[in-house]
Order: sequence, then C-alpha cells, then structure tokens
Amino acid sequence: MTTTIIGFPRIGEFRELKFQTEKYFRGEITENELAAVGADLRKKHWQLVKDSGIDQIPSNDFSFYDTTLDTAFLLNILPKEIQTIDLSPLDKYFALARGYQGEKGDIKARPMKKWFNTNYHYIVPKFEKDADIKVVGTKIFDEFQEAKTLGIQTRPVLLGPFTLLQISELAEDTEPADFAAELVAAYQEIFATLNELGAEWLQLDEPALVKDLSSQDWALFQQLYHPLLQQKNGLKLLLQTYFGDVRDVYTDLVQLDFDGIGLDFVEGPKNYELVIGGFPAEKTLFAGIVNGKNIWRNHYEQTLKAVQKLPVENLVLSTSCSLLHVPFTTENETFAPEILKHFAFAKEKLTELTELNVILKEGQQTPLIENQQLFASPRTEENQALAEKIAHLAPQDFTRKPAFSDREKLQRTVFDLPLLPTTTIGSFPQTREVKQTRAKFKRQEISAEEYDQFLAQQINDWLQWQEEIGLDVLVHGEFERNDMVEYFGQNLSGYLFSQNGWVQSYGTRGVKPPIIWGDVSRKKPITVKWSTYAQQQTDKVVKGMLTGPVTILNWSFPREDISLKESALQLALAIQEEVLDLEANGIRVIQIDEAALREKLPLRKSDWYSEYLDWAIPAFRLVHSRVQPTIQIHTHMCYSEFTDIISAIDQMDADVISFEASRSNLTILDELNAQRFQTEVGPGVYDIHSPRVPSTEEILQTIRAILAKVPKEKVWINPDCGLKTRGIPETRDSLQNLTAAAKIVREEI
Ligand code: GLN
Ligand code: ZN
Repeated sequence: MTTTIIGFPRIGEFRELKFQTEKYFRGEITENELAAVGADLRKKHWQLVKDSGIDQIPSNDFSFYDTTLDTAFLLNILPKEIQTIDLSPLDKYFALARGYQGEKGDIKARPMKKWFNTNYHYIVPKFEKDADIKVVGTKIFDEFQEAKTLGIQTRPVLLGPFTLLQISELAEDTEPADFAAELVAAYQEIFATLNELGAEWLQLDEPALVKDLSSQDWALFQQLYHPLLQQKNGLKLLLQTYFGDVRDVYTDLVQLDFDGIGLDFVEGPKNYELVIGGFPAEKTLFAGIVNGKNIWRNHYEQTLKAVQKLPVENLVLSTSCSLLHVPFTTENETFAPEILKHFAFAKEKLTELTELNVILKEGQQTPLIENQQLFASPRTEENQALAEKIAHLAPQDFTRKPAFSDREKLQRTVFDLPLLPTTTIGSFPQTREVKQTRAKFKRQEISAEEYDQFLAQQINDWLQWQEEIGLDVLVHGEFERNDMVEYFGQNLSGYLFSQNGWVQSYGTRGVKPPIIWGDVSRKKPITVKWSTYAQQQTDKVVKGMLTGPVTILNWSFPREDISLKESALQLALAIQEEVLDLEANGIRVIQIDEAALREKLPLRKSDWYSEYLDWAIPAFRLVHSRVQPTIQIHTHMCYSEFTDIISAIDQMDADVISFEASRSNLTILDELNAQRFQTEVGPGVYDIHSPRVPSTEEILQTIRAILAKVPKEKVWINPDCGLKTRGIPETRDSLQNLTAAAKIVREEI
C-alpha cells in the first residue's frame, strides 16, 4: 500500500503566486520573473509533498491561472483572434483568462464556470467548428522534466478528453463526437511524449463520470478511450474521478484497460458498495479517503474500518479530490491548541495519509490512539433553545404574505421607480486605500472613530456620485467588508476564522472560508449601522445588503457533526433577525445575496430536491417571510445557469433577482419566459469580471436583447455582479455608460 494525492494547492503558503501574478498584471515584474516564481513554488510544493512521505507526487497541477485553460492551450483549443494577436504566449494566456484591451487589440475573456460542486471557477474552452486540435503546448512535459531534474519522479495530471468535452462550449451544430478523433490523436501524442520522457504514470481527471450519464455519454467515453487505451505503450493510466460516485458506469469502467482507478469515498459513499461488489485484481484502486474539501481531522477509526472492507489487492491511499480546495497549512494559524488539533489543511492531510498508511501496513498504534482522543468527546456544547426553535418551525414561518403579484403592485406605487430601474449589486471598488484603512483599523493603528469617519466619507462620496449619474436604487458600497461571509460570520456566534486559510476561487482570486465550529446565532446587529447611515444621506432609496443563509453555509467550512440543513436553518434565523432589524430602521429595499445557492446543488439531478433544494429554498424563505409587503426583497446569484431549477428560484419568493447572464449569452431568458418566471429580473448587462469597459452602444444592445425576451415591467438594469474587485475609473465609466444606455432605451419604449 502506498499514498498519493490528486493535486496540491498552487497559490503558495502565503499566496505568493497571487501577489506576484498581480504584480505582473500591473507591469511591475517581467515575464521571466513571474516564470521564476512559478518554478520556485513548484519546487517547494513537490519537495514538501515528498518530505511528508507521500509516495506518488503529481505534477502539472500547477497553473498560472487555471488548469482547464492550460489544457486548452496545450491542445490548441483557442479562438482565432487569440492565435493571431501580437502578444507573448503568456499574455495570450492571460488575455483569454481576463480579457485584454490595449494597443494590440480587444479580446473578451472567456466565460468562467463553477468547477463541479466547488467554489473554484474554471475558464470554459470553446470548440470551434473548424478547430485544429493538436498538441501545441509543452507545460505538462516541461514540469515533468523540471521535477525530474530536481530528483523527483512525478505523475503528470491532465484533464481527460471526456470531461474536457463535457465542460466546454461547443460551436453550434457540432457535437462532442465531432472532435473525438482529433482529441484521441492529441492525447496519444501526449502519451508518447511522456513515455519518452520517462513518465511511469499519467493521471487523467474525469470528474464528469460522477454525473448522471446517458448511454450517449458512455458511448462518447468509449469512443475516446478505446483507441487511447491501445496506445499506452507502457505508460500507466490512472483514471481519476472525484466529487461523487460512478454508479452509472462502474461495471464497464473497471473492465477497461486502465491501470488505476481513482474513486472518491468521501463525497461518493456509494463507491464502497460498488468496489465491494468486485474490483479487478490486476488494477490499482486509488482510494480517496481523506477529505479534500473540508478542514476537519480525519476520523481514523472510521476510515480504517471502511478501507479494510475493500476487497482490493493493490491499494493507494489518496485524497477525495485535489487539495486545491483546502488551505495550505494550519502552521500559520493562531488558534488555541485545543481548537487547532481538530483541523487538517492540505499539508496536514499529507501526514494523515502517511499515518493511515503506517497504521494499516505496520499496525502502528500511537497515531491511531492520538486520533481516537480527538473524537472521544463532543467538540462543542449544543444551544438547546435554538434546537427547540428549529424543531418548532411551522409552514407559515416559511411563507411571506401577501403573494408576490400583490406585493409587486403595491411596491410599484410605493417606490414609484422608472421603467428599467438601474442599480448595482452592492459593492464598489475595494481600493488599496479601503483595504489598507481596514487593515490599519484591525491592527489598531487608527481608532474606531477614524475608521468610521473614513467609511462614512466613502459612503458619502459614492452616494453622491450614484445620484449624479442617475442610478435609481443606490447602495452604500460595502466598504466595511471584504469577504462578505467572513464579515457576517464575525458577528455570529459559532464561527471561527483562520488567519491564512485561503483557497483559490479563480485565477488570482482567493477566498478565506470561515469555519462553522458550533451552533450559530446572531450576536448583535451586523449591517444596520451603515445601511441606516447611508439611507439618511439621500432621498433616493438605498438597498440594505445581506448575505443569505445558503451562501454563508456554502462559503464556510461546514460542520460534519450536524446536517447541512440544520446549519442552514440556524443561519436563516440569524439573518432573519437582521432583516427585521433593517426594516425597523427604515430600510425599504433589502438584498439578500445567494451568490452561491447553486454551489452545493448535487451533481446528480435525482438528488437535487431530496438532498438539497428541499431545505435550501425554505431556508431562504425563512429569512424574509416576516417583513411587510412594502419591503422589497432582492436577491443576487453569481451565475445564470439555473435553467433547470427555475421553479425553485422563483420559489425563493424574492421580489427581484439579479444574476450573471452577460458573460454567457441570454438564453436563460427564454426559459424564464417559458416557465412563467414571476420574480422581476436584472440579468446583468455587462461582465464585471474583466476590467474591460463596455460601451454605451454595447450595453444598449444587451438591454434591447433582454427586452426582446422579458416584459419591460419586469426588467432591472445592473452590472452582473458586485464591483469590489474592479478599479474606480473602469467602474465609473462602465456605470455611466449603463445609466446612459438605460435612459436611451426608456425613451424608445
Ligand atoms: N453584494 C455583493 C457584492 O456586491 C455580492 C457579491 C457576490 O455576489 N459575490 O459584492
Ligand atoms: Zn455575483
């Protein structure tokens, strides 16, 4: 028995990659300097994994932005304009990731999508009709050799062709099979080159196998892998899955000539049954038993019991998914030892794997006994009053009155907004000044009064500017918070915060999910002060800005000792108190962001309602069910892919929803129509994830396209997400163009 991992966090122990890459973006370091940073990090991480005693070490899990984008560049799956623009290879790469606007041309960023059920976002490749798929990149080979030169034999990691096709955009009138032959040829060439370079194993990631698979899907898989598996030439192939079980294809899958199969036993407990039903003796099972997504210590006794049940001869102990989804190490944290001992981040998980290995192989007792002590008694005390309150929730607690259509009429008179009301999603640029001032306050270098003065000034400036450009529903700008979940968590009991627990979200962006340690309740008002302050400065209506329970939960590291549903209801009751408090203080529009509602949607449709939506939607309803009918409840979601859960979204019973339809196309709107979506909508008229400024004309066209599909009375005009990651000039220009465009359209209709 040996140990391995599927991938390691690449951003660095102190987010070095982020900071250096951003320096590169600002032109402060050269391409060569950035390349050296990458090489240093890879070296450090390989060495660390090796020193921890892990037997098989992955490579090519590093990326300057995203490994799916790396794969597109490896295989030449690139739009024409990027091939011809006069930029260096690295700048072409970043142009596709973030957009490019400059003297060399104008490139729009490719869309981003959530990576399965995680908060990581990948760049969506596009297969054009006349795509010329061939191996043009060398990263996977270079990094293998780089490690080899350091004396470290690695197992390169590559996104498999099946998942690549499943998660990419395909040109109209094409289907995945159209690209199969070229993809097969390209992967065969990669196999051959890796063979030549002396690679023993190649890990092909095929997480799409854990979704519901149709017979066509499986036919495609076979079409790709039958020829591929005949061309291994001695290279061993690990077919790696994660985020669920492979129930639809297990029996066929294990018949194929893979040398290893990687299964997730944490998120895919069904995989146990499958393997217990039989696993071929000549193959190696890579058993994902250490949770790659959560930060709690592994329960050795349970894990060992489960592993011992597996009727497998060749076993490699592994993580359930790449460690990309957990922070780097607990070593830089300042928690008390009694708390810290319950956590395992990426580095600590390496030790867990090697400990489990020696317990199993050599019967070592010390690590087992130490681990048993961690779980010998409950970690926290239960809040009994809260448990009772939740037990007594009745249907009326989840129902806002009167019904939406009545509220809509009422609110139309009360607010008297123009057609196509304009607004933003909440945050304005978190400039260096904003961040530094907050940091100074946290370090107590400035007083609470000074900090408050600063915030008030920011709010005043931006309110005034919003009035000047003619926005209809204003926001205070969220200058007092950075990470919204952290901000809420800090005011809730039961939450813990790491110092350095960063996890990559996309590109150079990271999040620091707080940890739900115990039962959650509101300690004190959270947003009331700044929302009411802002409302008092203007006659226009200012939106209160909250984060919803499902998003807070999904962006936290959740407990494993109570159900997600129970945690969601605890959070919902806490946010409900805040909503009622805002209402009592004169806030008339309240946005409750559910940016991450879709995040934990089970990957298999059959589980959507029973395992998730049946409690997630009620949790949201619980938050706003008690406000007066004249209070307008908004919500916001960070994607537009909810075609398949439209009725559930409508069931949230908000008055207005904004979402991101601009980066993808507006097709969702047809569906809203078809399904008689009630809630008013702000589909997002430009993409805020790129610094590119949309022209008035561009926005005009988008608005017209929206109006072709949605009744004008239902439409709101807004950017597609919060503006905190943007700079001030581009934000101002874009919003000015937005209000100008709205004005023009209002006159047309
Ligand atoms: N109100 C939040 C903001 O504007 C919403 C953020 C989000 O959806 N991720 O920043
Ligand atoms: Zn958003």
